[in-house]
Amino acid sequence: MNTLLLNDNQNDIEKAGKILSGGGLVAIPTETVYGLAANALDGRAVASIFRAKGRPMDNPLIVHIADIEDISRFSLVSRFPEKAKLLAEKFWSGPLTMIMPKGESIPDEVSAGLDTVAIRFPSHTLAQKLIKAAGVPLAAPSANISGSPSPTTAEHVMNDMNGRIDAVVDGGECSVGLESTVITLAVDPPRLLRPGKITVEQIESVIGKIEVDDAVLHQLKNGEKAASPGMKYKHYAPKASVVLLKGSTAAYIDFVNNHIESGTAALCYDDDIEKLKLKSFSLGKSGDYSSQAHRLFSSLRAIDRDESVKLVYARCPNPEGVGMAVYNRLVRAAGFEVIDLENL
Ligand code: AMP
Ligand code: MG
Repeated sequence: MNTLLLNDNQNDIEKAGKILSGGGLVAIPTETVYGLAANALDGRAVASIFRAKGRPMDNPLIVHIADIEDISRFSLVSRFPEKAKLLAEKFWSGPLTMIMPKGESIPDEVSAGLDTVAIRFPSHTLAQKLIKAAGVPLAAPSANISGSPSPTTAEHVMNDMNGRIDAVVDGGECSVGLESTVITLAVDPPRLLRPGKITVEQIESVIGKIEVDDAVLHQLKNGEKAASPGMKYKHYAPKASVVLLKGSTAAYIDFVNNHIESGTAALCYDDDIEKLKLKSFSLGKSGDYSSQAHRLFSSLRAIDRDESVKLVYARCPNPEGVGMAVYNRLVRAAGFEVIDLENL
């Protein structure tokens, strides 16, 4: 299959819309990461997303809309809980995904057989135009091969998906750089399943206390069931081994400079780079979680491309605010391997 590279002009938007309404696969930019989209109401089209990504069929997809009214227009949910309405008012359009009891139009392929559905209204203007051009809601997981970092540029998507999908729409670099916050409102109190740019504190300021699922910050124990199927997979794993080093800047610099061997590299804050005596990849600015979110996946891909890198010593972000999302992705890339430098 020849994968078309499209742009943000009206002609290309209409072309992408036609491919999508005809049951094809198009990678689209959003403010979080690039998504691999198909008509969410067409089970066959959705099934082809799983094949293109090599994604396990038991991992459900997020349905993307371009207007809150799409929820009732397409019967996407059987109940729109009051707290979900409050969150939609405050954070949509934006990087928040809400899980609700699913409506009659949702094919089993989207919900992976669950009785709930995940819905998001992206703020990216081009994403909204593409959903409108398709004329239907779009089911879209991240547009990477399953197990590799989510793509934040059209080039990342092409590296993974060229020849496997109909088209990629190039919308430049994604501003957030990490996937959306996922919260389920199918239970009360609501429960955070995946941290993202919209933080626990922001959500609680609108609907009061929520729970944070154990799997957000900790490794699931053997046999433990994941509330969100995606959390049981070892996501975002680069080829090199990654170890998180928890502690002060001085302790980090000291440890890394004393453990340099061939194939070792650092994934660190920009200010650390000049103090380190080995190959270093940027994890954004220290103390600026949004910049870390923006850099993380691009740096993990750069590490993957560099065959000489075998072991990466990464800074361990504080799991607070947007830092919770950065920590959640990085600790999975590290297979939960964390060294506490203050307690060696
Ligand atoms: P991705 O689209 O690849 O960023 O992944 C979407 C995430 O949302 C995965 O972790 C899914 O397991 C999760 N998800 C989607 N739908 C549901 C649902 N109905 N219930 C629980 N988790 C869901
Ligand atoms: Mg993904």
